[in-house]
Amino acid sequence: MHSWISIDKDSDFSIYNIPFGIYSQNGAQKRVCTAIGESILDLAMLHDMGLWKDLSIERSIWTQDVLNPFIGLGKQVTNTVRERIQNTLADVDSPLKGNPKALIPMEEVQLHLPVSIGDYTDFYSSIEHATNVGKMFRDPDNALLPNWKHLPVGYHGRASSVIVSGVNIHRPKGQTKPNEGAPVYGATKRLDFELEMAFVIGKNSDLGTSISTEEADSYIFGMVLFNDWSARDIQKWEYVPLGPFLGKSFASSMSPWIVTTEALDFARVAGPVQDPDVLPYLKYSGDQNYDIRLSLGLTPKSGEETIICQTNFRYMYWNMLQQLAHHTVNGCNVNIGDLMASGTISGSEAGSYGSLLELSWGGKREVQLKNDQTRKFLEDYDIVTIYGHAKKGDRRVGFGEVSAEILPSK
Ligand code: CA
Repeated sequence: MHSWISIDKDSDFSIYNIPFGIYSQNGAQKRVCTAIGESILDLAMLHDMGLWKDLSIERSIWTQDVLNPFIGLGKQVTNTVRERIQNTLADVDSPLKGNPKALIPMEEVQLHLPVSIGDYTDFYSSIEHATNVGKMFRDPDNALLPNWKHLPVGYHGRASSVIVSGVNIHRPKGQTKPNEGAPVYGATKRLDFELEMAFVIGKNSDLGTSISTEEADSYIFGMVLFNDWSARDIQKWEYVPLGPFLGKSFASSMSPWIVTTEALDFARVAGPVQDPDVLPYLKYSGDQNYDIRLSLGLTPKSGEETIICQTNFRYMYWNMLQQLAHHTVNGCNVNIGDLMASGTISGSEAGSYGSLLELSWGGKREVQLKNDQTRKFLEDYDIVTIYGHAKKGDRRVGFGEVSAEILPSK
């Protein structure tokens, strides 16, 4: 496929991608859009060109401030819309050529949180990350807890504080426990990122029913990059026995473009062998991991960016189908827009660890940045940016970025 629009070969937003997002321009009404090369494409304007007249989609779908109503049309419709956009971008006689107002340079618009998120769940599905954290916090010889290889461990996160890329965060405050003495209150001294991906639910399920691994694909609309900010000192003191709470819920950042699973189909790869064998409801068939190259850059105040982590989504021990099957095996329902994050994605080598906790090994080592700077944890005015894309031959499908700056405590 080739577009009449000039697109850099290293662009995340090739004609093969066609992700969905929400934009506004100069404070005007939010609208549904897609990204192509360096531009966004207004889908209300494409609607007015009659590109999918036969699908009887209400025009108001394109002027909503979230994608939930569009996603609710179902994959058959949303996939057709995506294909029609691809066709018109490939068609040298496209009527879009005569409507240049529909294409807007991306730097001229503001991108918003693309979905209304009812519930956000965070898994813990990278065996390398779980092993590293287990070694540091518990037993170096017995890092994984007995349940870890039998079920995708997760917890219910806080949906209200999920923010879109570009929204900055203030250093959170809370209660921590020094090694000696009584607990204290103050700003976290161990602020960290977690490099993750997340998927967006595309179909509602009924309370009391379960989604099988065979059905799970049809419930996943698409994926985003995700940063699960973590205050390690708050987390360490509060997490026993019920798990993460205020050390996580102050903010989580997601990228603005939802890349559909259809666009990522070409990047499917086999997952790792699961040993011991999993229970029947967690068994699956086919290639269900994705070869998505991920990296994370840290930019200190008025400094240069250093890429401090390079990892890959293909390393995940538990895949998305298993996560969703497990999430609903008790009859828990899911809703359009729910967000399910992967957990920190670490590889097996030191440069592939997806958190500073692991990169600095619990604050024991300095992480080297450019210009002789180092970090153990994040400092005020640090900017953290996660990038991700899949690539095979000349086909590249990417996510853009999720980025935020750490501001001092309020
Ligand atoms: Ca996490």
